[in-house]
Amino acid sequence: MQTTPQTPRRYDLGGCTITLVSGGSLKLDGGAMFGIIPKPLWNRLTPADERNRIQLACNCLLVEWAHETDRRVIVETGHGPQYGEKEQEIFAIDPTAWLLPQLEALGVDPATITDVVVSHLHFDHCGGLTRERDGRPVPTFPNARVHVQRREFEDARAQFGMMTQTYREESYRPIDEINAWNLLDGEEAIVEGIRPLLTPGHTGGHHSIIIAGRDRCAVFGGDVMPTRHHLGPPYGMAYDLFPLENRASKEKLLKTVADRDGLLVIDHEPGTPVVRVTPEGDYYTLTDAT
Ligand SMILES: [Zn+2]
Repeated sequence: MQTTPQTPRRYDLGGCTITLVSGGSLKLDGGAMFGIIPKPLWNRLTPADERNRIQLACNCLLVEWAHETDRRVIVETGHGPQYGEKEQEIFAIDPTAWLLPQLEALGVDPATITDVVVSHLHFDHCGGLTRERDGRPVPTFPNARVHVQRREFEDARAQFGMMTQTYREESYRPIDEINAWNLLDGEEAIVEGIRPLLTPGHTGGHHSIIIAGRDRCAVFGGDVMPTRHHLGPPYGMAYDLFPLENRASKEKLLKTVADRDGLLVIDHEPGTPVVRVTPEGDYYTLTDAT
């Protein structure tokens, strides 16, 4: 199934725009997605299918500047195209509906992308870094630097995760071959206007990504808070390596967005993934952003 994008959702940050681009979709077990939360609670928010899976999106961003610059940036790459029949079935992944066809439908040549930032290296976030050509994986963005925290890179290589197959070699090897990794050690700027916000918990080296325009900023959260239904402090995933650290990171993320009156982009939200964050009582509420 080839997907044609609807009118792209684009947000002006002042001299810089972010465009929401689909990196595909998948289904994961609802229980695993909500950790300690009992099914009667989460199932009301996001009903499970007959195999107990819930629908998730893989949201990505294209970042462009109005002024003359040689930079064109992608944040997150979704699940990518390289899945066998069994995996397509388990995760309900359509391997033809991923980031590259969506970008091309927007008229974006992947060779013009200069930088790709991923929150972490699980397959549903970095699978779009590579694709298959002539039977072997090659980089999707041949001219891009790929930015990730060094700790995440090392943990991925050590397969440090809750599940086998969460870190997939075919997503990295082609990037090794063109020596395109830029390994980060903290919150240093990646390119002008874009910097990481360290938000460990889901993985030890997980970061969120702050994109600052002249007028406002947007923060791509990553898997700190995968859907709008994961707002509450105990609403974590069973996949989180350090659940309490993730809770603290979620507060940090929400506070960062609220303090700056910015936009929060929620990575796996299948509904409206760009929201504003408003303090309410001793916590926060989310509202659709325009
Ligand atoms: Zn994820």
